[in-house]
Amino acid sequence: MLPFKLVYSDDYYLPIGAHVFPAEKYQRIHDRLLETGAAEAADFVTPEPASDQDVLLVHTPQYINKLKTGTLSAREELEMEIPYSPELVRAFWLAAGGSILAADYALQNRIGFNIGGGFHHAFPDHGEGFCMIHDVAVAIRRMQHDGKITRAMTVDCDVHQGNGTAVIFGGVRMPTGPLPSTSTSTVGLSKPSRARNVHASDVFTISLHQENNYPMWKPPSSIDVDLPDEIGDEDYLAWLDNALSSGLRQFEPELICYVAGADPYREDQLGGLSLTIEGLKRRDQLVFRVARARNIPVMVTFAGGYAQKVEDTVTIHCNTVIAAREILTA
Ligand SMILES: [Zn+2]
Repeated sequence: MLPFKLVYSDDYYLPIGAHVFPAEKYQRIHDRLLETGAAEAADFVTPEPASDQDVLLVHTPQYINKLKTGTLSAREELEMEIPYSPELVRAFWLAAGGSILAADYALQNRIGFNIGGGFHHAFPDHGEGFCMIHDVAVAIRRMQHDGKITRAMTVDCDVHQGNGTAVIFGGVRMPTGPLPSTSTSTVGLSKPSRARNVHASDVFTISLHQENNYPMWKPPSSIDVDLPDEIGDEDYLAWLDNALSSGLRQFEPELICYVAGADPYREDQLGGLSLTIEGLKRRDQLVFRVARARNIPVMVTFAGGYAQKVEDTVTIHCNTVIAAREILTA
C-alpha cells in the first residue's frame, strides 16, 4: 500500500471527441498503476465535484454562469480549444474537487495525488488551452479559506507556461493592445535560459517552460524559467534545481502544488524540449526530494502530455507516483 492517496474517478474522462488531448489517459494511468502493482485499489479515493462556492474563490460569477448555462460565445469556446458540453463542465468541476481532496491529503500525508487536474491555462474569466477552470488555484484558495494554510507555492513543470496561474496569483492585468511577447521569440540553442523573478504574494508561482511555445503572452510568474528549444535532461534538471532553491530561499510555503506535465518529453507532439522518460522521473524525484528535505507537503496534478504514443504519456505519469513513493520511503 502506498504511503499516500491517489484521488481518481472514471468520470475524469473529458468528453471532447477525437482530440490531441488523450482524454482516456486518466483511466489508463489508473489501470496501469493497478496492473503493475505500483498501487492497489485501496490507494485510490473518489472525489466529489467542487462546489460553485469553491470555484467562485477563483473564477468570476459571470464566467461560471456562462459555463453553467451553456452561453459561452463562439470565440470563448474557440479559445478554450475543447468543445463545450454540460458533461465537460461536470468533468472539470470533478477535477477541481479532486485537487481540493488531494491538497487535503497532502497536508495529512505529506503527498497527495490528483490523477488528473493541472488545468493551468484557465483564467478567472475565461478558459484557454484545453483548460476550463483552474483546479489547482481552486484547491489553494479553498485550503486558505479553510484556514489550513496561508502560503502555497506552485511548481509548474508542464512544457507550457502556467499563464492562468500567474494571472490568478499575481493579479496581473490582461494586456489590451498587442501581446508583449510576440516580438521576443528568437532563441538559439546556445542562448542560456532566462529566469525572471517578479513578485510574491501569498502564493509563489514557479514555471519552467519552453519559451517558444504557447502561450504567446506569458504573464509574469514569481519565477519564470524560459527554456530554449530542445533542452535535455541535465540542463533541465539544473534549471529546476536552481529555481526551487531560489524560490525556497525567498518564500516558505506550507504546501507545494506540483504541476507534473508529461509534455517536456522529447516525443511530445505539442512540446519542443528533449527530456527522456528517465529524465522526467528524475525531475519528479528532485521536486519530491527538495520538498521532503524541508518538510513541505506536495499536492500533485498531471496537466498535459501529448506523446506520439499515449503509452509513453501514461508511463511518465505513472512514474511520478513511483518517484513519490521512492522518495517518501527512502
Ligand atoms: Zn502543456
